[in-house]
Amino acid sequence: MRPSTPYRPLDITVPFPELKGWARTATRLHPRAGAPGTADSSVGGPLLWPADEAWPECGAHAAGTPGIAPERERRYRRLVREVYDRPRTPDGGLAYSAEERAELDALSAAPWHRPDRHGGGPLPLLALAQFFVRDVPDLARFAPAGADLLQVLWCPFSDHEDGPFNEFGPYTRLYWRRAADVAEPLAARPELPLVEGRYLPEPCELSPERVVEYPFADYLPEELAARIDGWEDAFQERLGEAAPGYQYDLSLAPGWKIGGWDSWHKTDLVRVYCDACGTEMRLLLTVDSYDSGGSWGPYPLVAPSTGIKVGRDGEYRAFVCPADPAHPHRMSMQ
Ligand SMILES: [Zn+2]
Ligand SMILES: [Zn+2]
Repeated sequence: MRPSTPYRPLDITVPFPELKGWARTATRLHPRAGAPGTADSSVGGPLLWPADEAWPECGAHAAGTPGIAPERERRYRRLVREVYDRPRTPDGGLAYSAEERAELDALSAAPWHRPDRHGGGPLPLLALAQFFVRDVPDLARFAPAGADLLQVLWCPFSDHEDGPFNEFGPYTRLYWRRAADVAEPLAARPELPLVEGRYLPEPCELSPERVVEYPFADYLPEELAARIDGWEDAFQERLGEAAPGYQYDLSLAPGWKIGGWDSWHKTDLVRVYCDACGTEMRLLLTVDSYDSGGSWGPYPLVAPSTGIKVGRDGEYRAFVCPADPAHPHRMSMQ
């Protein structure tokens, strides 16, 4: 069964019709473990990449940089899943063997104790995701003329300053193409010698679903935001915890998505402007550590299976320039 958003608690444009002018559609992606191919939209799947095009690299890492080999990270995840799936011990604990405990401890060591070291030289980027316009309706508004496929690659280490706010996260590259132009697809993508474990995606298939979103309150005129606050307070007085709130229940969907509005719940609103032309940028992609929150938890509720954790269990977002898709994108962590 494909995950989908449950019915909305209420239509916020009934008490606040002026929000209709602020509505944006977003496509929730709902990535779940699967076996996608090069012709599928996916997170962590193989890309439809031209065999004769150089695979992008990152040269920012000195020899000796600590990381974990992807096969070790996968071993760690398998082991965790096995242990969690087992019956608990009589006192309710996880049923590890001593060997498993030792192996898990070694594989989940603190960053400076990561088990593997970079041998030096540029590292190939990691295929994070690809999205076909035919699968993800909100992608069409961002696609340069003729393009119908967006591919996202990243360098899976935290120590890049890839964003306007002096934040550190993976270095990302976005590629737009026309799928029909890839006459001869690359047979096998390069495997990385090491990664930061939380940036290694599991192969996931998508269940794209279009929803309507309204802006983070700081984008709204102050007077309107204040009225929404007052409405929320009155609602809460009557219903207590059961009252839906604007931020987490009625405006912004959590999870991986294309388009829609950007949340600034961990900081305050920071408007993102294009480096090249100064135009205010627009949210293209949200990479999220979770797929649920507030009233938006999809049904059936299955734990996210991308394997990816960004920031402090947060979101990593790509913003693009609406004036010119060729202008460089910017990333922001939240
Ligand atoms: Zn890098
Ligand atoms: Zn621009």
